[in-house]
Amino acid sequence: MAPINLLQFIELPRQEPAKIPVRVRIQEWGEIYGRYDAQHAAAQAARCIHCGNPYCEWKCPVHNYIPNWLKLIAEGNLFEAAELSHRTNSLPEICGRICPQDRLCEGACTLNDGFGAVTIGAIESYITDEALKAGWRPDLSQVKGTGKRIAVVGAGPAGLGCADVLVRNGVKPTVYDRYPEIGGLLTFGIPPFKLEKEIVKTRRALMEEMGVEFVLDTDVGVDVAFQDLVDGYDAVFLGLGAYTYMKGGFPGEDLPGVFEALPYLISSINRVMGLEQNPQDYIDFSGQRVVILGGGDTAMDCNRTAIRQGATRVTCAYRRDEANMPGSRREVTNAKEEGVRFLWNRQPLEIVGRDRVEGLKVVSTTLGAPDERGRRQPQPVADSEEIIPADRVIIAFGFRPSPAPWFSEFGIDVDEIGRVKAGPGSQFKFQTANAKVFCGGDMVRGADLVVTAVFEGREAAEGIIEYLGV
Ligand code: FAD
Ligand code: SF4
Repeated sequence: MAPINLLQFIELPRQEPAKIPVRVRIQEWGEIYGRYDAQHAAAQAARCIHCGNPYCEWKCPVHNYIPNWLKLIAEGNLFEAAELSHRTNSLPEICGRICPQDRLCEGACTLNDGFGAVTIGAIESYITDEALKAGWRPDLSQVKGTGKRIAVVGAGPAGLGCADVLVRNGVKPTVYDRYPEIGGLLTFGIPPFKLEKEIVKTRRALMEEMGVEFVLDTDVGVDVAFQDLVDGYDAVFLGLGAYTYMKGGFPGEDLPGVFEALPYLISSINRVMGLEQNPQDYIDFSGQRVVILGGGDTAMDCNRTAIRQGATRVTCAYRRDEANMPGSRREVTNAKEEGVRFLWNRQPLEIVGRDRVEGLKVVSTTLGAPDERGRRQPQPVADSEEIIPADRVIIAFGFRPSPAPWFSEFGIDVDEIGRVKAGPGSQFKFQTANAKVFCGGDMVRGADLVVTAVFEGREAAEGIIEYLGV
């Protein structure tokens, strides 16, 4: 082991794993970042200055023990780092890849102020990737079975986080999902150039080894009655996500050539994964002029998918400026590198066309005062309308929860925008108005992040364990 160099953060600059050159990566669907080897991971981890007040840990939604596992990696203790990393995060190799670190852990790193933050995300995914390859498996030797069984509905990050904590506490989770693979939006939403699907499949195999059972291709409420789950298990966790598509409310949204973001992304993923049922399901933008509306992660994923499909021009129009967009800065940079043209401060007024899309009418905006959530509101500029020519338009304005028709029958309360009410105020963490039903992730907080869904799933599992009294 090399002696500790207290000035490593000055002598060695922040260095992320190399990216695949643009001309190559836009011809492919794989992840665009390379991976560290042990030497580079240790050197980058040793840049952590152990500042005493780890702001990174506070800012990380699952409160990872970041400086501790960085130290273990700097010292070459891969398996201990993997064990520690899994104490707080159920999907560390996935969060390490797709968390918006610039807004979370790395944004809060003391070194971010002038020296370059420690590459926390890249090291987090390195730990699990390499430990699994080297034969590490979670240590469940101390787990004692409780005889309790829980139905988890939804195999997305929230459901997986919940199942992980349950199984580590001797409670048997059976995870139901309507899709043929686990992951929720990790598999059927986020494109493979951000997260290769093999990573999710490896996690599935690991969870099965740990004792988690998956029942896939099963729509709860259709193929299995929710009543059967309530009757057949000691409690139920719901992590159903948020799938109600938000429309723009302007003319032309129903013209042929206008698409919703998720069906577009899923059609592309199904083709890449070989899951396509019918070639006609594929939405192909090759040779088209495409306009994507929105400024979040979903919009960025649509932009970069259209580039890979061979669209002749991809324009992303967003109604605020670059500094006020909700998506990850890293993904905007990647999209720009790949040839996406951004039009900031453009608000859509109408999708124009006679019997199919011909263009998008927008008005320029300036930003007014912040609203009650602190977001500056776009104000239209008089006489600034223009038409952007387009053959295809995607509306990527985000999603709202989609309360199931059977919620009310089971006393599961929702708020005015469909989010399930699951604490505060309930006796146990993330318990709904029905004492036997717990809930977390996008369906409780509204569409958000993988890491926040994992956190809520894990917290709900703790609530369930307390409720069971085991
Ligand atoms: P989901 O991931 O939506 O999982 C819910 C699961 O429940 C699904 O598998 C669904 O099939 C299943 N289900 C629903 N109803 C039923 C039923 N009745 N019966 C059986 N199964 C059911 N976050 C990031 O942190 N970084 C990113 O880069 C990022 N990019 C994104 C890109 C896109 C295109 C989208 C749409 C989202 C992105 N997000 C990103 C957000 C992130 O994916 C979500 O916040 C997260 O997946 C929410 O997890 P969840 O478990 O609550 O729901
Ligand atoms: Fe950073 Fe996300 Fe990992 Fe937390 S889970 S340390 S926020 S990359």
